[in-house]
Amino acid sequence: MPGTEPALLPKNVKPTHYQLELKPDIESFTFSGQQTIDIEISSPSSSIILNSLDIEIKSAHVNVNGISVPTQNISFNTESETCTLDFTDSIPSGNGQLVIQFSGILNDKLRGFYRSQYLDQQGNTQYLATTQFEATDARQAFPCWDEPECKATFSVTLIVPANLVALANTPEIETFQLPDNMKSVKFADTPIMSTYLLAFVVGDLTHIEKEAASGTLVGVWTTRGKEQQGRFALESSVKLLSFFNDYFGIPYPLEKLDHIAIPDFAAGAMENWGAVTYRETALLVDPENSSAGTRQRVAEVVAHEMAHMWFGDLVTMKWWDDLWLNESFASWMGTKAVDWLFPEWDMWTQFVNMDTNRALSLDGLKNSHPIEQEVANPAEVSQLFDAISYSKGASVIRMLEQFLSPEIFRQGLHKYLSSHKYQNAQTTDLWNALEEVSHQPVTEIMNTWTSQMGYPVIDVSSQLGTEGLTLNLSQDRFVYDNILGGDPADPMKWQVPFRVALPYGTASGDTELVSEPQSSITISEVSSDPDWFKINPDQTGFFRVNYTAKDWQNLIPAIASRSLSATDRLGIQNDAYSLSKAGLLPVTQFLSLAGAYKSESDASVWSDLASNLKELETLISDEDFYNHYRIFAKDLFHATAQRIGWIPKTGEGHLDALLRSTVLSQAGNYGDTEILEEAKSLFKTYLDDPSSLHPDLRGLVYSLVAQSGDQNTYDQLWSLETTSELQEEKIRLLISLARFTNPNLLKDLLRRSLTEDVRSQDTITLVSAVAANLRGRNIAWEFVKDNWDEFDKRYGGGGFGLMRLVAITGSFTSLEKASEIEEFFKAHPTPAAERTIRQSLERININSAWLERNRSELAAWFK
Ligand SMILES: [Zn+2]
Repeated sequence: MPGTEPALLPKNVKPTHYQLELKPDIESFTFSGQQTIDIEISSPSSSIILNSLDIEIKSAHVNVNGISVPTQNISFNTESETCTLDFTDSIPSGNGQLVIQFSGILNDKLRGFYRSQYLDQQGNTQYLATTQFEATDARQAFPCWDEPECKATFSVTLIVPANLVALANTPEIETFQLPDNMKSVKFADTPIMSTYLLAFVVGDLTHIEKEAASGTLVGVWTTRGKEQQGRFALESSVKLLSFFNDYFGIPYPLEKLDHIAIPDFAAGAMENWGAVTYRETALLVDPENSSAGTRQRVAEVVAHEMAHMWFGDLVTMKWWDDLWLNESFASWMGTKAVDWLFPEWDMWTQFVNMDTNRALSLDGLKNSHPIEQEVANPAEVSQLFDAISYSKGASVIRMLEQFLSPEIFRQGLHKYLSSHKYQNAQTTDLWNALEEVSHQPVTEIMNTWTSQMGYPVIDVSSQLGTEGLTLNLSQDRFVYDNILGGDPADPMKWQVPFRVALPYGTASGDTELVSEPQSSITISEVSSDPDWFKINPDQTGFFRVNYTAKDWQNLIPAIASRSLSATDRLGIQNDAYSLSKAGLLPVTQFLSLAGAYKSESDASVWSDLASNLKELETLISDEDFYNHYRIFAKDLFHATAQRIGWIPKTGEGHLDALLRSTVLSQAGNYGDTEILEEAKSLFKTYLDDPSSLHPDLRGLVYSLVAQSGDQNTYDQLWSLETTSELQEEKIRLLISLARFTNPNLLKDLLRRSLTEDVRSQDTITLVSAVAANLRGRNIAWEFVKDNWDEFDKRYGGGGFGLMRLVAITGSFTSLEKASEIEEFFKAHPTPAAERTIRQSLERININSAWLERNRSELAAWFK
């Protein structure tokens, strides 16, 4: 979609160095600041325009060629988030200094320079001050050229109470006492960097630290008393730093690397160079109370943020339209690093479940967007933080790495990073570097994946001849509303790296590129009909595959016997489900195929299949055959639930814990009474003896008791939530509270989600959890409408909160609901989630058409 041209700042004045002093007051929630910015003036001008939002400028002047030019007028434009300094005289070309005194607000919106509230160990309310600048909020902390391309060096000084800790991107180099129990903390100059990567944190923090092999000092900072919960992240980070230094061939350039847990945090984490900030659940692991899932999340987020120290921080996108370069690489590289650190976690199979399939789902909508998306304003920029930028991007990078070979790919990355370090780059720069080392037409191939939205479905049929096995292929764009007004003459096509798995291994020969709408490939070494063949081994390609009925049938024994890899088993059911949703395969064929997974043993396969079955459940929840469906699904999970049981067996690993949680929770969800009874009994014991329930089982047990629980259970879960000090535990309890079926309890829960009982950072997670409960879907939507002003006030300013909130509407199935939602957002314009609204409406239309198409067939099948 053509975007409007971004309104960039004039470039006649360029900042090179900021000397910035900030004095936050965490009692009055304000801050004051002064800065001297070294500027290069390339053409004379009587005004300077820079970014500034919600900042009061007390005075500003320019020193140039030995004279001081004062401002005549200072004006603000809240639309463009700029301020214009008009000077009394024209400022001549040359090098000068812009001196500004200003003040601002330590807000509670979790962006810019903001405050975070928590209870200390004595139960007293405390505050800390912290920052979140990406994408466009450094301008809320100090007037600046707040565009990624305007890189400069920064010398930061923080004036803070003497008893508090002050952190910034670089180590502190000078501290001295000031009157009134204050101190001045000056930090080393940063390397040349973008404004959105700066960070300052001030509070009563403590830390643990360790020197990495390279000499970098790695620290984990928390509020007082939680520092030991940083141990897992610290040990992981130290090891990961060696991995990244080796892999990139460019050592991490700063002296220190801090990971800082912040009690209130909008996203998961933020890759500020040398001072990475996190929400507590993404950094802290309590050995007594944290689950396997949390350990994994912490490892993933730490690795993702550390990958950004190179991708994003050292080399930065020129403009936000290339945000994907940051996020895709960090996601892909983070997975690669965790796979290196914990090979037993089987991260690439998990990646297909969590990233590739999530992206395929979103990108199957006509209202998706290309990876490379033009953006002009902050609302458009913030909408880019979605599964396309993170997960589709990461998936097509994985596809490219497989195609070029890991070693060639690594060499290309090294070339790209070393040619552009401390600078900005665009997607084409990366393709050029990879092209130079690989001698492959990388730009041409990748343009088909990054500059157009969507992806292909490849239809394949096979034929055995004297030359071998010939596969006839045709590609077309995959969209879910294929049948409803789809464009059969859609000319889009992709260059698809194509491989085939056979019972005796992947077919020899390199990956072939399939680029035409119709083509064929002959595998010469096949002389008799294979028992089965599977396109896209290990799901490295970002596309779907549709087989003939016979070839689908042939895959069933290979799934049941697990002769196919876990990643392939995962891919097959996901393709089948999605094709059935798009009307390209009978849904009953997907259901029959699902039966082949009864003895499945892989955690990711179960997790992916479970979410597809859950989505189906949502679609048919008002139908007569709904109960038959529940019996079918319960039966599917039953054998594995019995086999894995509640009690971890000796020798079990991380993936067994994940598998147990998925399978027991699904069996319970579909009404397996034995499991529901056991959950109740475990909960009862737990209330008397909290050490009796392993952290891996807690979320599961809480959810299942809530599902069949009454007011008394509701009160018990709330009381556990209130007394818990671990945010991970609180979230587990809140999400479980969303599982009650009594509408009054759900209404009460939603009401409390907007009170002080729930942190603002967690409200949307909670509302989404209620909406995901079939009994709560309508209640949650009514609640969102009734409280829209409050949601808009809290989350409408930017970020992705509203996108997540709006997305809850996508599971409705009736066209009446679609019109109601459309009307609502017409009356309540929501620029920060404009695309998500269109996506939700499209999803409802798809759901409704799907039901019309499949209702009678399903009714017959379940009879
Ligand atoms: Zn990231």
